[in-house]
Amino acid sequence: MSNINLSTASKLKGKVVVVTASTDGIGFAIAKRLATDGANVVVSSRKEKNVKEALRKLKGEGLSAEGVVCHVAKAEDRATLFSTAVEKFGGIDILISNAAANPTAGPVLECEESVWDKIFEINLKAAYLLSKEVLPYIKKRGGGSIIYVSSIVGFQPNNLLGAYSVSKTALLGLTKAAAQDLASDNIRVNCIAPGIVKTRFSSPFYENKSAEDIALQKIPMNRMALPQEMGGVASFLCSDDASYITGETIVVSGGMASRL
Ligand code: NAP
Repeated sequence: MSNINLSTASKLKGKVVVVTASTDGIGFAIAKRLATDGANVVVSSRKEKNVKEALRKLKGEGLSAEGVVCHVAKAEDRATLFSTAVEKFGGIDILISNAAANPTAGPVLECEESVWDKIFEINLKAAYLLSKEVLPYIKKRGGGSIIYVSSIVGFQPNNLLGAYSVSKTALLGLTKAAAQDLASDNIRVNCIAPGIVKTRFSSPFYENKSAEDIALQKIPMNRMALPQEMGGVASFLCSDDASYITGETIVVSGGMASRL
């Protein structure tokens, strides 16, 4: 990675981006990259101390960022997230819907109903609600972009991530459906499907050598991704470089099996 230049001048200059679940992992890396590319970013997550720490890091690098607590399943938090972006930066152009929960491990039909509901509430319903609620703001700007973060398991379910996999497949459908509906409003809707990215969320895949060896067998590039490797893809998808791309999912998996 060290000889790859991940930074580009100011292709998102002036854009206002709201990123959910962005105080750590993939969300933070995406927020950082978009801010590096010139955007004003609003980071958010459930815990205030995490929001403060993420903001400290971003501002410490001279990036334009604000932050607010937002649990994506809470309507009042989502409203505050968007109103903060408008108050601080004057509007919203881009939503990155990144939050997910996976409170269980096991096959899909062994998932408890209450756990299923939780997974779908955070992973799918919140993405749908955030998109619905951000629309008036993006429309006011004359167009913009929405990006969902799905997963490789949305294409190829993992039997230890049963219900989670199905929720991620549903996001692929939400991407297509919303993209069709919003194309005439000049709003593009796309999706990123990461493989295994080294974050806290994926730690069971690398917490010991044998788990990591098993995971690596499925990755042709023979390594897990770094969170920042999702940032450039997000930046591309919400920039004018992707002006004719909508309803698309980009798999970022080091070659793991997904679709033809
Ligand atoms: P992570 O490193 O564990 O980060 C999770 C972030 O989400 C934290 O900032 C956390 O902060 C926040 N968060 C958790 N629940 C939230 C909620 N209900 N509302 C708002 N914020 C919440 O996770 P990650 O690996 O970056 O995962 C990010 C996305 O990538 C998820 O959609 C995941 O499904 C997807 N993904 C990850 C991988 C992977 O291998 N890591 C692979 C495929 C897809 P607080 O604790 O302060 O809320």
